[in-house]
Amino acid sequence: FAYLLVVMILQDTIKVTRTQESKLSAVDWDNLPFGKVFSDHMLIMDYKDGAWQDPEIMPFGPLSMHPATSVIHYGQSIFEGLKAYRMDGGEIAIFRPDMNAKRFEESCARMCMPVIPEKVFVELTRKFVEIESDWIPTKEGFSLYLRPFLFGTDEYIGIKPSDTYRFVIFACPVGAYYNEPVNVKIEEFYTRASVGGVGRAKTAGNYAAALYPARLGQQKGYHQLVWTDGKTHEYIEESGTMNVMFVIDGVLITPSEETDTILRGITKRSVVEVAKMWGMPVEERQVSVAEVVQAHREGRLTEAFGAGTAATIAHIAKIGYREEDLILPAIETRTFSLKVHAYLDDIKSGKVEDTFGWLSK
Ligand code: PMP
Repeated sequence: FAYLLVVMILQDTIKVTRTQESKLSAVDWDNLPFGKVFSDHMLIMDYKDGAWQDPEIMPFGPLSMHPATSVIHYGQSIFEGLKAYRMDGGEIAIFRPDMNAKRFEESCARMCMPVIPEKVFVELTRKFVEIESDWIPTKEGFSLYLRPFLFGTDEYIGIKPSDTYRFVIFACPVGAYYNEPVNVKIEEFYTRASVGGVGRAKTAGNYAAALYPARLGQQKGYHQLVWTDGKTHEYIEESGTMNVMFVIDGVLITPSEETDTILRGITKRSVVEVAKMWGMPVEERQVSVAEVVQAHREGRLTEAFGAGTAATIAHIAKIGYREEDLILPAIETRTFSLKVHAYLDDIKSGKVEDTFGWLSK
């Protein structure tokens, strides 16, 4: 199947129905809210009778649903988020889609859904971006955010893996996600994911479960929570939709992915790979709250940031810990995170050579 589908995509035989009226000229590029403006088309590929059906690209629009559609009730739903960029010379590049494809495969498996092979995921994404190429902004820092997702579509009340599924890709042109540094709060009661749970899968329920604790944090003035492990709350996991990274004594430290409670972030992986290339010491291991607090007290915590596709790097200005606020060094002093952010941007725009081979052009 994968082979046939890839051949079909490469030979350009996917059915494409173009919109009669593009919405492109109505976009206000100077006021572009994240995730609220949608491009002209979407890609749909259904799964039934034990097989993926032919994919189709069509005008973007609502999906109608039977009220008993299983995903609405039982949450068999996964998604991805990645970006396509317009490079300086006008070429188009998607950043590491193979990594999203691999993570999608893992999410499929964990949620008992039929797997979309990596190559198929990547080729469908590339084809879709080609159709939507006019939607990739040329403005510096802007990109086309891609949202592939898959959900169970059986019209059936009862708990079992769905027999039918729908895979969709749509896109949103976006600017910079966080303009301001973020304030985060270390969460020591609520849990995002527990060992043996679904934290590593990019599944809808993880995000729903986080809403209430996040709201409590927001009411106290924090943008995001820093999740700690569900058992002891002594170890740091991740934050909102970002992995967290610290620079302590000049060492880049980030929670290890060995636990199945943390999403394996592609931005974090890229930051780690760049840091290693620069010869910076990197430690991926358990990171305790106590260690970060102590390092801050002793002036050894020089940088803390979130890493994720939406923001790339979100500097952490303040960490709320119990009744205290740890105020971190001024953003201008954050040598590593500023430099790595600029470097990743430069790879995407083509200003520096893509020595890692991360761009799918
Ligand atoms: N953790 C969570 C829970 C996320 O939703 C995301 C965003 N996908 C990340 C981390 C960062 O992952 P990535 O760098 O692949 O966007």
